[in-house]
Amino acid sequence: MTQFNKHMDAPLRTIDPEIDGLIGKELDRQRTHIELIASESFVPRALMEEMGSILTNKYAEGYPHKKYYGGCEFVEQIEEIAIERAKTLFGADHANVQPHSGSTANQCAYFTAMNPGDTMLAMRLDQGGHLSHGHPLNFTGRMYRIVAYGVNRETERIDYDDVANLAREHRPKVIVAGASAYPRKIDFARFRAIADEVGAILVTDMAHIAGLVAGGAHDSPVPHSQFVTSTTHKTLCGPRGAFVLCTEEYAKDLDRTVFPGIQGGPILQMVAAKATCFKLAAEPAFKEYARQVVRNAATLSGALQDRGFRIVSGGTDNHLMLLDVRPKSITGKIAEKILGEAGITTNKNAIPFDPEKPMVTSGLRLGTAAVTARGMGVDQMGEIADAIDRVLSAPEDETVRKNARAKMAELASSFPLYANL
Ligand code: PLP
Repeated sequence: MTQFNKHMDAPLRTIDPEIDGLIGKELDRQRTHIELIASESFVPRALMEEMGSILTNKYAEGYPHKKYYGGCEFVEQIEEIAIERAKTLFGADHANVQPHSGSTANQCAYFTAMNPGDTMLAMRLDQGGHLSHGHPLNFTGRMYRIVAYGVNRETERIDYDDVANLAREHRPKVIVAGASAYPRKIDFARFRAIADEVGAILVTDMAHIAGLVAGGAHDSPVPHSQFVTSTTHKTLCGPRGAFVLCTEEYAKDLDRTVFPGIQGGPILQMVAAKATCFKLAAEPAFKEYARQVVRNAATLSGALQDRGFRIVSGGTDNHLMLLDVRPKSITGKIAEKILGEAGITTNKNAIPFDPEKPMVTSGLRLGTAAVTARGMGVDQMGEIADAIDRVLSAPEDETVRKNARAKMAELASSFPLYANL
């Protein structure tokens, strides 16, 4: 028996009160603030049980029935269940549930579909794309020749003619559909037609909209794409993690790319939570949730427009919207800060053709996945729009922020979060 053994059964508060205290403060922040970050939501408590479970102790490199470790008889059943549920939920030929994050999932799809030096056509980062779609400092920008498409200056929607022209000119090996900050429906059939015309492979990154796709509130990219990548922690309300779907023809290559190509062992507590996330997302209640997320986003966007704000592209079809804050003579950076002081958590975000730097921006990205997971509906969207309007219309006025903060805390307390934690 060593001194270390005594830690095995001791609670966190006795072993590391400093971290325990900060987790407690973060729980309080999540409970009392209005969460409008479009890439976040709340996970059901059962999934947190899985994430904090003894599955963390197990190594299981390889795939079910072909593991490189002993003792995998239970964890491989968990992985099989997760794979089958992902395939059924999204109607895919094949699923790999091992990728640790969305960026890694993209890496897995790209490594399977392309060689270093090949050309990839993806959405411009300053108009909605993600870092892993070609940022110069990201592995994508360093390994591939990136060509970027954007939105039309007038409509602020994806310019499919531009995508087609760029594809014809550059003959990319891969075309990426999907975005981090695009409020409109994406026409996957159109993307596939463009890809087919130039012999490219279509990789759709549905990280943001996966929950809407699962719940039938957004068209599915699966029938149109050779690869579909996604995180599980955004609108899907699952654990921090990811997965890749692909057509049968790429199944073996994809699995080889994930392991041993890119990762070692899967993080099994996350795989278990992904399995339960897919189970919940297949239930009728999730359809209702997904529809309400979209309804809440449309209501919030409309309520902000009624108060004189400009919403990029004139509205939203999904869970997020981009608010142009220039009419209030402030920047996205200031807007994020003062809303934070008022108990509303958002993130600054470039709007299309933004004259400001990425760390400043002229916009805010707002999403409704988290507030909807808490149970809020259209009435609450009106209250939130009102608070946003008051705070952003009086950026110098601390009293306005203080009053808004009290109102938002009261609103939050009417929708209790993790009451038994
Ligand atoms: N893809 C898209 C479209 C995203 O929005 C994000 C994250 O915001 C990612 C991929 C990356 O996910 P992760 O942070 O898990 O690497």
